[in-house]
Amino acid sequence: KFPKILVVGGAGYIGSHMVKMLRAAGYVPVVVDDLSSGRREAVLGAELVVGDIGDANLLDEVLERVSPAAVMHFASFIQVGESVQEPAKYYRNNVIATQVLLDGMRAHGVRNFIFSSTAAIFGNPKYDPIDEAHPKEPINPYGRSKWMVEQILEDYDRAYGLKSICLRYFNAAGADADGELGECHEPETHLIPLILQAASGRRPHVTIYGEDYDTPDGTCIRDYIHIEDLCSAHLHALDHLLQGGDSARYNLGNGNGFSVREVIDAARRVAGRHIAVEKGDRRAGDPPRLAADARKARAELGWTPKYADLDTIVAHAWAWELRRFQ
Ligand code: UDP
Repeated sequence: KFPKILVVGGAGYIGSHMVKMLRAAGYVPVVVDDLSSGRREAVLGAELVVGDIGDANLLDEVLERVSPAAVMHFASFIQVGESVQEPAKYYRNNVIATQVLLDGMRAHGVRNFIFSSTAAIFGNPKYDPIDEAHPKEPINPYGRSKWMVEQILEDYDRAYGLKSICLRYFNAAGADADGELGECHEPETHLIPLILQAASGRRPHVTIYGEDYDTPDGTCIRDYIHIEDLCSAHLHALDHLLQGGDSARYNLGNGNGFSVREVIDAARRVAGRHIAVEKGDRRAGDPPRLAADARKARAELGWTPKYADLDTIVAHAWAWELRRFQ
């Protein structure tokens, strides 16, 4: 009656918001997380099994006991720069451990899988905005690890009937509208939390990585999608699979690009505080503009994002920063 959903990586930024939304929708989430970057206190009202998804014995025990209707996978390493320095870590966790998870699912007859993929599978944009058909030519180990899993999933569907939805996130941002959860990476590398740390005084300034790009104000443009919109897309994807729907892949963004400068201006408006800015060099591998064409997800999943407005995204992240750190 209340389907159980295994949420691997459910103690992390996106996973913890997903757990909260699953509960609100009447599911029973069970979290597996090794707490390498997730936080125990972010798992609200769900069982937490502390462990690694690459541990076949642990998975066997959990899948046997829980017998979930579906698995959602948020347990990946996500830092592009680190993936270049330490590709072994990325392939081991993001690809090999994921395959252990998929084989555990097969062994236990769990047929539905929702996978957190990324805009990084596309590499440098050949056109804009990026739709699902865009060529997949990732330019770093992080992006390659995610694209490898997408390809494994195609093969597993064909051979074993394992159904999957791959959701390619553009820039996940913002926080739970109730203020209970938010973004908390260690070290923090993402633009919005870094800006807000500069606003709250937790860091002296924010550095702009390049102001000489071919964009209207010279800074990079990204498609920031509110975490709740991202999670609601997962709920629609879950519905689709549980009703016997076929495997599919969707790009998720809100379709509006905002430049680094525009995000800083939004943070100044929202926080009403001084935010010191320094000019920095370009960061390797950053394309000038990345924006999603998310029409397929809207049309096929019936998904409607609620928070396309940048100020709202930043305001929710700011409420979380204030609540946690001031
Ligand atoms: N960025 C920046 N300063 C920072 C962190 C990020 O100027 O301290 C820029 C980065 O170059 C990119 C955008 O902000 O253009 C978003 O970066 P983030 O790391 O948040 O996400 P990514 O686009 O890498 O997934």
